[in-house]
Amino acid sequence: MTTETLAFDICSYNFEAFEKNLKKLAQKALKLGVAPPSFEATGLKTVTSYHPNDIGHFSPIKTLFYEISLSPGEAVKYQGWKFIGVLEAIEEGQNIVKAVPGEEIPSSFRVVTEQCDHCNVTRWRKATYLVQHENGDIKQVGSSCIKDFLGHRDAQAIAAYASLLIAFYDGCDGRDDEEEYCVRFGSGFCGLDIEAYLCHVSASIREYGWTSRGQSYENSTANDALDRYFRLGDYDPKVSKNEGVALWSEKDTLLVKKALAWINDKKEKGSHDTLNEYMWNLCLAASKDEVRVQHTGILASLISTYTREEERILKRELETKNAVPSEYFGEIKTRYDLVLSCINVHCYETAWGTTAIHNFLDEKGTSFVWFSSSKILDQGSSYSLKGTVKKHQEYNGAKQTVLTRCSKINEVERKESS
Ligand SMILES: [Zn+2]
Repeated sequence: MTTETLAFDICSYNFEAFEKNLKKLAQKALKLGVAPPSFEATGLKTVTSYHPNDIGHFSPIKTLFYEISLSPGEAVKYQGWKFIGVLEAIEEGQNIVKAVPGEEIPSSFRVVTEQCDHCNVTRWRKATYLVQHENGDIKQVGSSCIKDFLGHRDAQAIAAYASLLIAFYDGCDGRDDEEEYCVRFGSGFCGLDIEAYLCHVSASIREYGWTSRGQSYENSTANDALDRYFRLGDYDPKVSKNEGVALWSEKDTLLVKKALAWINDKKEKGSHDTLNEYMWNLCLAASKDEVRVQHTGILASLISTYTREEERILKRELETKNAVPSEYFGEIKTRYDLVLSCINVHCYETAWGTTAIHNFLDEKGTSFVWFSSSKILDQGSSYSLKGTVKKHQEYNGAKQTVLTRCSKINEVERKESS
């Protein structure tokens, strides 16, 4: 019997499920005549996350976590084993890897077949589980055999699982979404068209900005895109178009194609032991024409990951061309005609609507920023515009010129570096 207690942070979204599962487990333990698990709430904390951007003005998203101290009770299981993660097969021997926080899964498990080391049966399984012995041995087991290792839903495993739900990038899906859609669309439903789903993601990001599932499950971009995707099934797209509902634009299609080409190139050039776990999982999630509902979180992150990468490339390109640090531009309160390359756009929601933060560089590598509530420009495009210099500010040691009242905005062809 373990007397030590374990500390866990459980996201408020998962807390109800955690409590319910722990109660069930306690009842089971009592029936079996073993010490039941219990927990004590030790505190509350708010975790503020910011979407990475380089001007630091992005709206914070607060997530509430319960801090708990768990007494696992007496586990009905083989002694010495713990749950360390899940392998989800995309195809034979190609696994998306989900590790319990704090546990490390050797990269070799990314490419193992769906076998069970316990009963030695190899058959197609959507998921296999990894358990680790105190002596370091790791076993891969099927869902029916895992009970032998972890007991009747071992307390520790449940708590770890609840943390796992939010900790695993964004990809881990706590709901039985897939089953729900199978009921709705028939058992033949196996996945979403990747390009169409990503176009919804791109359109959602343009409208509301990017929100990960870790930040907010219900309001996440991945879920908004799911809603958009399935709404499409209910309506005739042509009718929606007539009603003025834009599903997505050509720019979204183009961005999605570029992002998919980029990630497929990563997969071709990388391998299970050169890519980091996130990139490996992303490569797999994007490798088919269809994506399972439970992998939409990972897949959705492709768009923001790719746009950050594109931003880095654009910036590097413009900076190496100039090789001088950014200087302030112009006189405050003066209006100028400018030609600027938009190197990134971040949107966020306010009580008054969406605000887009645009970062620009001009030909000389001068850095500009413009907060707009009226227009959202495209990352990677260049524009001619009229704007007033509002102020000069330093951000991360770099000099930035803040623009206001930008107008006469027209897209111009971007000059390739010569
Ligand atoms: Zn088995």
